[in-house]
Amino acid sequence: MTKIRLTLIRTTSFAALLLLAALASFGCKNDSGKDPKNPYGLEIINTSEAYLQSVAEDSCNVMVDLETYIPGVVLEIRYAGTNNFTGKQIYTAPKAYLRKPAADSLAKIQSLLAKEGLGIKVFDAYRPYAGTLYFYEVYPDTTFVAAPWKGSIHNRGVAIDLTLINLATGEELEMPTPFDEFSERASHSFMDLDSAVIANREKLRRVMTENGFTMYEHEWWHYNIKDRSRYSLMDISFEELSKK
Ligand SMILES: [Zn+2]
Repeated sequence: MTKIRLTLIRTTSFAALLLLAALASFGCKNDSGKDPKNPYGLEIINTSEAYLQSVAEDSCNVMVDLETYIPGVVLEIRYAGTNNFTGKQIYTAPKAYLRKPAADSLAKIQSLLAKEGLGIKVFDAYRPYAGTLYFYEVYPDTTFVAAPWKGSIHNRGVAIDLTLINLATGEELEMPTPFDEFSERASHSFMDLDSAVIANREKLRRVMTENGFTMYEHEWWHYNIKDRSRYSLMDISFEELSKK
């Protein structure tokens, strides 16, 4: 009786193990049934067709190339090289795209600054969502890196990282920190600085916030367009955008 019961238990345990193994391998496949490009299941525009459809529905959704759209704008797209906090090249090309209303505001800002002999240098603008996923992997701190479960305003094409330059020399105005220094010195409320540096940060803040953008407290270089939530997250490459 005991022997039969033991055999039965063994057989049942073996069957259970087999079932578990089968479930585990099935589970693996199913886990990756989560799209690795969109593991949080966000609403992301990730095909040219869907992007073009969104533009057909609302022309404000069109993404424009800042290099051609804003005369004299200087680009130093850090994620297209290795001089960035990841130490790796993230973008395939040094491109800066923004939705047209954001680009229009920026064009106005560039022309206002030009009257003072100043201009803008762009470090980053639209960022495909794939970049946001990778940044969080490298630096999982949502003060300085967007939470991938929400997406970044950069993914919506309405955020920009920039600084001021002297138009005649191309030199950057001195700011509290280099771009992407993730420290308290990067905050707008950090005041233990030379008064000229505070004035430069304030000049950038004022011209941006008076012309359609809002500041981000923790990063002097980052600005968002005011009505950002109307724009969808996107995961479209620069190459695809340039085909339009
Ligand atoms: Zn930014």
